[in-house]
Amino acid sequence: MLRAPEKLEIASFPGSAPPPDGAVLRVTHCGVCGTDPHMYTGHLAVPMPLVMGHEFAGVLEGWGPDFPARDVYGVDLRPGDPVAIGTTLSCGTCYYCRFLPQRQNLCQNVNIYGITLGCDEEPHVRGGYADLTYLFPQTWLFKLPANVSLKMAALSDPIACGTRALERAFSPGMPSAGEGMGLGRSVVVQGLGPIGILTGAAARAMGAQPVIGIDRIPMRTEMASRFGFDEVLSMEELPEVEDRVQAVRSMTRGLGADVVVEVVGLPPAFAESLRLVRKGGRIVEFGHFTDNGTMPLNPQHIVNLDVDILGSYAYPNSQIGTSLAFLSRYADVYPFEDVITHTFSLDDTEQAIQASRDKLCVKAMVVSES
Ligand SMILES: [Zn+2]
Ligand SMILES: [Zn+2]
Repeated sequence: MLRAPEKLEIASFPGSAPPPDGAVLRVTHCGVCGTDPHMYTGHLAVPMPLVMGHEFAGVLEGWGPDFPARDVYGVDLRPGDPVAIGTTLSCGTCYYCRFLPQRQNLCQNVNIYGITLGCDEEPHVRGGYADLTYLFPQTWLFKLPANVSLKMAALSDPIACGTRALERAFSPGMPSAGEGMGLGRSVVVQGLGPIGILTGAAARAMGAQPVIGIDRIPMRTEMASRFGFDEVLSMEELPEVEDRVQAVRSMTRGLGADVVVEVVGLPPAFAESLRLVRKGGRIVEFGHFTDNGTMPLNPQHIVNLDVDILGSYAYPNSQIGTSLAFLSRYADVYPFEDVITHTFSLDDTEQAIQASRDKLCVKAMVVSES
């Protein structure tokens, strides 16, 4: 439980039966998100005290008589079933929920497990760094495919972030072919943390070619080479932006990339996106989930490039279905569990968050499975 910035404590709440319309999940795995360290340090404001953790999977422990015990596809659920969840709890009545339900990530009254639901009020625990967490009746539950482990399922959230960012660059409605994301299109992923690596793996699965990654940290560039990237550029070996621009152009007929996905979250990376993309290409800006400052930008560059710049904020719950389909279809192709380079017990959640903050791992995960 996060009581105050940098004060993460073990707390226990009195056990009680789930409310009539609620359920209880036994959390087995909860990944550390890149935003968790920002909440932990106080850089990202959240209600406190808070049970953090929003990248979780687990088995259903039980539920009240009025809980709708079916998954999103209508499959009846039983106690002990392994599930992934959509962490977004949208209100259903605001403008975005009514008129753009496929964009429930924009809900004006949104709640997210492990981020917005403090534990002062009952039923207290609505986050993934816990043995047991409460589930609201409107939660999107996904029963896991047979070949997707609970550990893999805890990657559903970062995969949803990455695949949704790529889908932003799909091209329905464009008047000509050859635009945006698709078979044979070149994709650059800037930043090879877990989301960047899984974004590249998904881009390859969508038929992109070449898929080019860029990062500074050797552990990450090595991991990316096992996840479908055709080329990984090391910022240690190519410290100048101009060198990386030339390297990408040499792999894209001298043009620059059709699609650039920015997953670093630092302003200079976005400036570089505008150099890496080809004229008429697409940039998906995902990395700046927290405020990391500003940058000078000459609007004329946007005009001259005739470029599409797309924001991608989190994802709608339906994207978890995409994640599980990808995990299941590519279970034998990509070593998904290897992305999780460091695991921690629930008691050591603070170390897990610190390891992620200090970039000592590719993916840190808290594992409660006995
Ligand atoms: Zn997250
Ligand atoms: Zn809403």
